[in-house]
Amino acid sequence: MSIYEHLVLRMARRWVAGSSMDEALEYAREANLRGMRAIINCLGEHSISRDEAEDSVEEYKRLLDAMHSSNIEGSISLKLTQIGLDVDYYTCMQNLMSIVRHASMYGTLVWIDMESSPYYEQTVSIYLGAVKHYKRIGLAYQAYIKEHSLDIMHILESGGIVRLVKGAYREDASIVYKSRRSVNASFRRLMRILFKYSRGIFAIATHDNTLIDEAIALSKEHKGREFEFQMLKGIRDDLKPILVKQGFKVAEYIPYGINISGYVYRRIRERPTNLLLLARSLL
Ligand SMILES: Cc1cc2nc3c(=O)[nH]c(=O)nc-3n(C[C@H](O)[C@H](O)[C@H](O)COP(=O)(O)OP(=O)(O)OC[C@H]3O[C@@H](n4cnc5c(N)ncnc54)[C@H](O)[C@@H]3O)c2cc1C
Repeated sequence: MSIYEHLVLRMARRWVAGSSMDEALEYAREANLRGMRAIINCLGEHSISRDEAEDSVEEYKRLLDAMHSSNIEGSISLKLTQIGLDVDYYTCMQNLMSIVRHASMYGTLVWIDMESSPYYEQTVSIYLGAVKHYKRIGLAYQAYIKEHSLDIMHILESGGIVRLVKGAYREDASIVYKSRRSVNASFRRLMRILFKYSRGIFAIATHDNTLIDEAIALSKEHKGREFEFQMLKGIRDDLKPILVKQGFKVAEYIPYGINISGYVYRRIRERPTNLLLLARSLL
């Protein structure tokens, strides 16, 4: 790791468990002890060669083995560009299926993060292909997208699993809602669909108090729905134990690795004052 990467990792410690898998497993163990499931992500996106993509596949397999042998309650989450979507569609599909087959030995859930809009359709297509073979694969669904080419109902009818998020990428106004009000309205609409029609598990992944309160109200209206709240490591740490105490399932998304710049950039974009916090952590 270069000096620059060391510096950024030190600053981003709040959001990233560390550079190594062991540090992520240690943090995941602590999350379990605090009553939360762990969603472990090895940071990385846009692998440009087959070898890089293959390295990520092997890393996720080792991670699945390690989570199983350490009795960690949780799942993994990955980006398709990390395992070859920029190389080609079929390489990526094969790589995903290889990880999924490995996960199926342990019954571990595999989440697919949704990336920026140029990857949207291929991600959805690969997801629908994979979910035919293994039901424990979930897909992040971004509420800020104006017109989804895939209806959320179609995922539910295919036996898929949805993680509802607002959406984190810089996109054109022709593609996404830009105002907080419109994004929240879309999130609410999709959340109501999930509570009403989902027959399996789903996830509400937000740190937004109002939407979390609304999800709690919906859970009382639609009793017996199997859902969990998901939040990122280092964000709303005040709220997580409260939800656990109230009896809700909560999962924490725990990234690790050295390719942290894209992830850190998105956390700063969501809340520009984070830049000051990061700078202060250096003093
Ligand atoms: C488990 C999980 C998985 C995700 N997966 C994806 C994915 O696959 N694809 C994708 O596009 N996006 C993903 N996201 C990110 C998501 O799209 C949002 O960008 C992010 O969650 C911030 O939106 P929010 O819903 O928390 O609402 P916001 O309105 O952004 O925030 C609500 C409140 O949360 C707190 N907060 C939010 N962000 C920060 C921050 N960075 N620093 C400090 N406080 C903050 C603040 O108190 C803020 O007022 C994921 C989020 C989570 C929790």
